[in-house]
Amino acid sequence: MRLTAHLLAACVLGALVLAPPGAAAQTGTPAAAVLVVRAAALIDGTSAGPRRNVDVLIRGERIAEVYAAGSRPLPAGARLIDLGGATLLPGLIDCHTHVFLQGEVPSAGGYDVQLLKFPASYRAVRAALAARRALEQGFTTIRDVETEGAGYGDVGIKQAINEGYIPGPRMFVVTRAISSTGGYNLEGYAPEIVVPKGAQIVDGPVEARKAAREQLDHGADWIKVYMTHRSWVDSSGALVSQPTLTVEELKAIVDEAHGWRRKVACHAYNGVGLQRALDGGCDSIEHGLDITDAQIAQMVRQGTWLVPTLAVYYYDPEPADTPEGQRDRARVALHGVSFRKALRAGVKIAFGTDVGGFVWSDPIAQEFAREVEFGMTPMQAIQSATSKAAELLDERGQLGVIAPGAYADLAAVAGDPLKDIGELKNVSFVMKNGVVFRNTGAGGN
Ligand SMILES: [Zn+2]
Repeated sequence: MRLTAHLLAACVLGALVLAPPGAAAQTGTPAAAVLVVRAAALIDGTSAGPRRNVDVLIRGERIAEVYAAGSRPLPAGARLIDLGGATLLPGLIDCHTHVFLQGEVPSAGGYDVQLLKFPASYRAVRAALAARRALEQGFTTIRDVETEGAGYGDVGIKQAINEGYIPGPRMFVVTRAISSTGGYNLEGYAPEIVVPKGAQIVDGPVEARKAAREQLDHGADWIKVYMTHRSWVDSSGALVSQPTLTVEELKAIVDEAHGWRRKVACHAYNGVGLQRALDGGCDSIEHGLDITDAQIAQMVRQGTWLVPTLAVYYYDPEPADTPEGQRDRARVALHGVSFRKALRAGVKIAFGTDVGGFVWSDPIAQEFAREVEFGMTPMQAIQSATSKAAELLDERGQLGVIAPGAYADLAAVAGDPLKDIGELKNVSFVMKNGVVFRNTGAGGN
């Protein structure tokens, strides 16, 4: 079965097609094939500028060679995929996604209804569709940072993708995530009623380490912790965030994860919680809305990554004359300043969006324009979602780069994303693992 644009559109509208085992490998070229992908421009993920008129030779699931277009005869049995005037890039990487969230539309029950009323099977089906949406948009790898009450559901989605039952990106999963009592939803219910929580709740270093062990045992590739929870604007107009885990609790988690050669992603907005995240040894700060100069210096010193997720905070602000509205506006105002300071200081920045926090039908690539707005060059923004993201994932040279030996994960756009970064919202060609998933460009075959 070859996936046409029409069929993809039908899937997006809800008619999920469940393929038989291994069918994903049959939707394009068999994985063992020899392919040459030709394009007028190549952004390889690491070089300072693009290359013109290239052929990318692919053998099986990996890139074999990159050379000037037509400078060598087509290898025997190879198929040429000529993308014409398109710009070819490494498959994109989103380091902060939630396939088990669907935009939390307040009129449809918001966050709580998902945990209280939706069957696990319903959430899993929608997560599978979200994974497909990522791949359609050229995101061939995601780090999915917690299931929001859906337990170890991400491990199953990843397994189904890897076994070819459903299409989707490579997934690095964190499973349940960890926070403290009073540190995560659901909340606001009568104290007599026990409600489910969107994260695993721990108190004390012993419980913290045990939760990390459980999650690693059940398939977590990363550990995700919450270091801040509620936030508000105080009487002086400053953004304040409630801290959650202590340094001792976080150190137990980080020590356990690092022992397994895994890393820890820390949700942290600012203040005490962000400071504890850095002192406790977090590998990546998620969001980092309001980072002080001293904290930025500490991030540089410790090699801590920033995964900023800029665009999501522009969604649905509360009315300006409410406390929540003031909070929403403070978040946006501070975030851009922090991002600029971090960029200037040389903090390592990887692309992340929090998609799922907004609906999967919106473009994931809207984040690139925010990165550029706050000081990145278009090439820096592209590298944040390719070679830099791969470095965060300990996949340097394997993912996020078009070079010999790397996995053949590719995306292409019709125009020049270095002139208009918005081009990345219209990916016309997607290959994962040497298999064409999508090719809607006029120049393709
Ligand atoms: Zn998130």
